[in-house]
Amino acid sequence: MKITTIIGARPQFIKAATVSRAIAQQAQTGQQATPVEETIIHTGQHFDANMSEVFFQELDIPKPDYNLGIGGGSHGRNTGRMIEAIEDVLVREHPDWVLVYGDTDSTLAGALAAAKLHIPVAHVEAGLRSFNRIMPEEINRIVADQLSTLLFCPTRTAEENLGKEGFPHQLTAQTRQTVLNVGDVMYDAALYYGDRAQEKSRIMQPLALSPKAFVLATIHRAENTDNPERLQNIMTALNRIASEMPVVLPLHPRTKQKLVLADFSAVTFIDPLGYLDMVMLEKNARVIITDSGGVQKEAYFHGVPCVTVRDETEWVELVSAGVNYLAGGKKKNIVQAFQKMRDHVFDIENLYGNGSSARLIVEYLSSYSKAENLKQS
Ligand code: UDP
Repeated sequence: MKITTIIGARPQFIKAATVSRAIAQQAQTGQQATPVEETIIHTGQHFDANMSEVFFQELDIPKPDYNLGIGGGSHGRNTGRMIEAIEDVLVREHPDWVLVYGDTDSTLAGALAAAKLHIPVAHVEAGLRSFNRIMPEEINRIVADQLSTLLFCPTRTAEENLGKEGFPHQLTAQTRQTVLNVGDVMYDAALYYGDRAQEKSRIMQPLALSPKAFVLATIHRAENTDNPERLQNIMTALNRIASEMPVVLPLHPRTKQKLVLADFSAVTFIDPLGYLDMVMLEKNARVIITDSGGVQKEAYFHGVPCVTVRDETEWVELVSAGVNYLAGGKKKNIVQAFQKMRDHVFDIENLYGNGSSARLIVEYLSSYSKAENLKQS
């Protein structure tokens, strides 16, 4: 069975690392009745060394077979160029599956290019919805789900969202699609790389941080960075919190472009981190303040309370569990949310599967590749 994986942005490298590892493991142990061969296309959406290269090195992701070098343009321009370039590769490779992750322009382009060539698409992180179509990510995930044959949901909420939209739970000649709740590959990653981070990362010392005595923050969503007033409010709140407890903020390139760092001098800005250093800071933070999808979940996986600076989240189960406080973009609300969450202690439950999501995905790809229902007429 041939799988072509399409990735391009930081969170996709982390998600794909777990599946690539499951593929390699099954090949090694000979567990897989059908040998699996993976080809990786990196679209180039994230291209800085600390947003891309470092993840391939640290997470042992196989070197991409194709690097398309497409990044830095507008959504439409990038997506169009990606579709064209991915189509060429897919025609040459002719895989049994195209595997796409999450909700970026690379996800959308990969799903569109494959579907038009009648190559079945499997979407990892299917069914997430913010119900806010202003977000580019929401548009990407809705379209990717429509085009996918296997919809790998990370949570029960995602599965229910797809159920409400009429997606089937059984693959037949008529439906040609099925929803499968496999848990979250990021939980697999947190379990696997959490111990490694503890062992290998030295990030705490140079930043002079003590465990449970600092705040880790990340801000990069367009809805925050592209609204100057909102960004100003969020950063002013972080600066105010930093007068009580150190705030460390690894700066996403998009956010860096929009900020005058000197205006928020109490905040410790650092370059984007590799995954192991990031996990180390997550594990040791007192509170995490973020607008990232992945970081909200990682806060939970590592037992750290989270304040989300967005108006809604796809990870609603964390809000219901009381471990993630949805603070929006107002300064006062963010500061109050930090004060409310700083002493919150909790145990984690099985909201995101049991850490075997990547293995399940590979097993499903293998068994469904034999399904007669997939053959195009
Ligand atoms: N991350 C990282 N270094 C950083 C910031 C984030 O390794 O400096 C990781 C983080 O641990 C998580 C992923 O990147 O696994 C989240 O990516 P991002 O916030 O860019 O995207 P989102 O999850 O919002 O799609």
